[in-house]
Amino acid sequence: MVVVVGGGLAGLVAAESLQALGAGPGEASLPRVILVEAAGRAGGVVETIRRGGWLIERSADNFLAARPEGMALVDRLGLTDELISVFEPARRALVYRAGRTFPVPSGFRLLAPGLAAGIEGTEILSAEGKARLLAERNVPPKPTAPGDRGDESLESFALRRLGREAFDRLVQPLVAGIWTADPARLSMAAACPEFLRMEKEHGSLSAAEEARLGDLGTAHRAEGARYGQFVTLASGMGTLPERLAERIEASGVERRRAAVTTLERRPGGAWRVSFDRAVAGTDAIEADGVILALRAPIAARLMATADASLAADLAGIEYASSAVVVLGYAREQVAHPLDAAGVVVPRIEGRRSLAVSFSTSKFPGRAPEGHVLLRVFLGGALDPERHLLDDEQLVALAREELAAIVGASGPPKLVEIARWPAAMPQYHLGHLDRLERMTRRLDTLPGLALAGAAYEGVGIPQVIASGQAAARRVMAGLRVSG
Ligand SMILES: Cc1cc2nc3c(=O)[nH]c(=O)nc-3n(C[C@H](O)[C@H](O)[C@H](O)COP(=O)(O)OP(=O)(O)OC[C@H]3O[C@@H](n4cnc5c(N)ncnc54)[C@H](O)[C@@H]3O)c2cc1C
Repeated sequence: MVVVVGGGLAGLVAAESLQALGAGPGEASLPRVILVEAAGRAGGVVETIRRGGWLIERSADNFLAARPEGMALVDRLGLTDELISVFEPARRALVYRAGRTFPVPSGFRLLAPGLAAGIEGTEILSAEGKARLLAERNVPPKPTAPGDRGDESLESFALRRLGREAFDRLVQPLVAGIWTADPARLSMAAACPEFLRMEKEHGSLSAAEEARLGDLGTAHRAEGARYGQFVTLASGMGTLPERLAERIEASGVERRRAAVTTLERRPGGAWRVSFDRAVAGTDAIEADGVILALRAPIAARLMATADASLAADLAGIEYASSAVVVLGYAREQVAHPLDAAGVVVPRIEGRRSLAVSFSTSKFPGRAPEGHVLLRVFLGGALDPERHLLDDEQLVALAREELAAIVGASGPPKLVEIARWPAAMPQYHLGHLDRLERMTRRLDTLPGLALAGAAYEGVGIPQVIASGQAAARRVMAGLRVSG
């Protein structure tokens, strides 16, 4: 028997994979799989609310199609017909500056400078800022000793290669919009290894980007191609865990609603999983395998008695909190053309929001005819208390931000608040060393695996991959011991 703890996307996928692997050729018998989830609903962070013609994403509203795991899951669930990508005109992001919004320079990609013409033409940067960004190709790569990971904070990397102004006005707000992170602590090696590799292999990000675009060919050079890689489901991201939960149940996974409170290793190597309440007549199960698909601090608490060293490393993974205030307006209440996926707000602007996502500009069916839906992101690692404001204060704040950023006026027609306390793992400096130590500890704990956003990627495809890898690890352990 295998117990999966946590019914977020990682846990659901882990349960699905256990069933699939168990049914594979050469397998003697399907393991009994029990999924234990504390909440009444599967999906964890991912949740869609559908109400009176509005479709509200409480967290994730799309995922990257370039990695195969998300698309393959959509296919397995028979949802391919529901796939939609970001509307062509919205395939760009804006940056707020002094009461106005400007497009991110053409081709600029998180840390890679992009096209010279785009940089020269932007109103986001001063002449000095542009010159410094254009000089990126002349900045020598940071020397690294053999065996050295070359880890560095995202802030240090960006300042060194792109200069202060590009960091403050482009990199910082774009990064805040993705990881809600403190760039001075975010690990390049863990969060953005691609850009470290670009520097190492090509000498500069500019040269690496030119090589990449050359390889892709002109068809893909269009500025919007990247945003076209982000997809969602017509009925919302929540359909993914909803359907997956149905599918695994139909294939024999037992679902139990309870919070797991402790995990003990029994002398024979089995795992005893205890719940906060009796379900199906028992408040504990003995299992051959356990997958913890939980946020790291919760996994740390469960592991405390079974392995103090693994628990300490899990507890060391920090999380950021945020709130998403979703407001719906009649179209004429918002002055801005909303001709983008959204707008990010540099911290040096002194505003209180991190970003605003234009849901109705990105995807169809998010609001009743003649209305727009906007999601305001507040909080994050650099503003940790913001999500604690009461509902009234949060909505007032979001309305003020929308008034200033996109010229929204009058009372919203729809209000929904999603609070995310300690929901976004932060891959701080040393994250990869921590993962290595954890892998060594796990090697001494057969039958146990970890899955979820805390380890090797926060995006939905990476989280799916983590669930699949955890299932493979546990099944391999069962084969050895069986
Ligand atoms: C605001 C926000 C916006 C995001 N936007 C995007 C996006 O646009 N695109 C993208 O790709 N990614 C996005 N992400 C990231 C992505 O949604 C998450 O990384 C992913 O959904 C995490 O899944 P998970 O299964 O690891 O964790 P979770 O979803 O946190 O699941 C953990 C589950 O464990 C359960 N649990 C907790 N304690 C116990 C216990 N003791 N016993 C049993 N069960 C327990 C919880 O109830 C929960 O269901 C976003 C995240 C946030 C917070």
